[in-house]
Amino acid sequence: MRADGIFIAVEVSDEAASDAALAAKLAEACPVDIFAQAGSGTLELVERNLDECVLCGLCLTAAPDATVKIIKLYDGEATLAPA
Ligand code: SF4
Repeated sequence: MRADGIFIAVEVSDEAASDAALAAKLAEACPVDIFAQAGSGTLELVERNLDECVLCGLCLTAAPDATVKIIKLYDGEATLAPA
């Protein structure tokens, strides 16, 4: 799944997005509530919050390798590197 704001896009592999435990971890980790859990437990991206991303990298730490990508649309789609 991917959602695009004006400055930031977030991409999550479909496999990771359907993992309820990971969805809960991401919802907990993000300080600006870009990740949420649907009623079924799967991941939702909160589009109105995308551009609030502070590039903290906590979602990258919470998720296994490269399942979450933070894409800087203002910088030629460069991806945020894990801390
Ligand atoms: S980098 Fe930080 S603010 Fe941005 S989506 Fe990940 S956890 Fe949220």
